[in-house]
Amino acid sequence: MNCIHCGSAQSIIRKGFYTRPSDGKRFQRYYCKICKKRFSERVWAINYRYRKRRICQQVFRSLAKGVSQRTCAFLLDVTRATIARRVVRFGEICEQNLNVYRQTRNLAHQVMFDELETFVHTKCKPLTVPIAVEAGTRKVLALGVGSIAAKGKLAEISRKKYGPRKCERRQLLNQLLKDLQACTHKKTVFHTDKSQHYSKPIKYLFPMATHKTTKGRRGCVVGQGELKRGGHDPLFSLNHTYAMFRDNLKTLSRRTWCTVKKVENFRSLLFIYAWLHNQWVEKGPKRNKIFLTRL
Ligand SMILES: [Zn+2]
Repeated sequence: MNCIHCGSAQSIIRKGFYTRPSDGKRFQRYYCKICKKRFSERVWAINYRYRKRRICQQVFRSLAKGVSQRTCAFLLDVTRATIARRVVRFGEICEQNLNVYRQTRNLAHQVMFDELETFVHTKCKPLTVPIAVEAGTRKVLALGVGSIAAKGKLAEISRKKYGPRKCERRQLLNQLLKDLQACTHKKTVFHTDKSQHYSKPIKYLFPMATHKTTKGRRGCVVGQGELKRGGHDPLFSLNHTYAMFRDNLKTLSRRTWCTVKKVENFRSLLFIYAWLHNQWVEKGPKRNKIFLTRL
């Protein structure tokens, strides 16, 4: 264990106990020999210093199952700020968990990735959400979110109203592929659609990998662009996962008035869902065993 104040390893010793006043439970306390500071084992708990400790798992499940933050606050009879604070912390925990997961899992041999598009407040301010999925298991391996410029008819309106918009696509794709290096084989097969942005960074960061492209097809149901019409879909694992993201994150569902307000918080929600999703596709019917814990 590392010290939470100075980060030094093997410098902490056990020193006494802390009794929680609300229920009388005892917790181990620690002392750091280097920075001479103290803390208890509670710092690693997901509900550290929260007064409403019991609602944490319900908040995690609700947010990752298509409930908006406001509705979540209403259902649990708490204020919106209570939920908003949890979104930030849970997002951080889930991001760290995904990091640990990448470093400890077996190497993936077949990876699919693409970008999902959504927006902040208005379609004039679009966002891109690159997500990488392992083919077959449908596990989310890496994801990111960033702004892109509006295109088509909206491009001019967007520039007039909100000024020039930064395009973070290239930077995000590079980061996504760098993250993937930890959990994929050198000779991984990458499956993507025919977007022109993908081949260069793949060649640069995975010189030995194969890159297969598939032509995009039309959606099968109006408003569900993710599920493709007709026969076998070579990018099924990817498109199915995207459909699940759209269904289970309230801000991503189509024709919604629950739009993204802050990119940072949306990023947290994406990681929260990704973490639940990875457990969901692994545990299948044992759905009551899905919890938020720190890895
Ligand atoms: Zn220390």
